[in-house]
Amino acid sequence: MLKAEQAGVSDSLAAREEWKRFRNAKSSEPLIVELRRMSGATERCAYCSDSLGATVDHFLPISPHFEHTFDWRNLYWICDNCNRRKGARITFDPATGQPLAIRPDRECPWEYLYLDMETGVIAPRMRPPMFEPDERAAETLRVLPVLGFEPVIEGRRREIRRLREVGNSAVTTRGTDEVRALVLAFKEEHHGVKSWIAHHEGSDESPWRELKRQAPHLWRRLVITSVSD
Ligand SMILES: [Zn+2]
Repeated sequence: MLKAEQAGVSDSLAAREEWKRFRNAKSSEPLIVELRRMSGATERCAYCSDSLGATVDHFLPISPHFEHTFDWRNLYWICDNCNRRKGARITFDPATGQPLAIRPDRECPWEYLYLDMETGVIAPRMRPPMFEPDERAAETLRVLPVLGFEPVIEGRRREIRRLREVGNSAVTTRGTDEVRALVLAFKEEHHGVKSWIAHHEGSDESPWRELKRQAPHLWRRLVITSVSD
């Protein structure tokens, strides 16, 4: 092993120990409280949104990225499932030096990923001219395979169905209760489906395209709700 590598390994080990001490100490409580608050009222996992957050994740793993161990921007509140399956396999864009995987708090995943509204499956967008899978989306799915697991897909499918049902009722009846139920459903949705509907291709599907045309005020309200998580 090269000297520099050896130094990196011992720095990573030291950082891991220091992090463990911090997590076991009372002084880490404010950090946990803040991360949980940022994960929204339902405290969902920052990566899969399907399960409750339960632990702190280092987006750039402590080993070898020990220098980011206590970097606030590197910490996410995630579920045990994602924590178990996410490996230390983050890769970087050679041109920018930035991680290729999508950062859930800074970037909209739907810029890179496509959501199939029938199945709930997500896949990389295809990029011209060769129509190859988007590199960052592919990397995200590689680092976080949980996003393609059946229970997570089923969670998305359930949300799509639920929104579609209340959307249909609101479009056909225009009743106060139905409209209220739709706004509430958008507010409570946490799989990112509402953002797909409000800001991406989802709005071209029924009942959303009808709603957009027939009730523009309500549509605008949903669009605003979709970013006020
Ligand atoms: Zn998760």
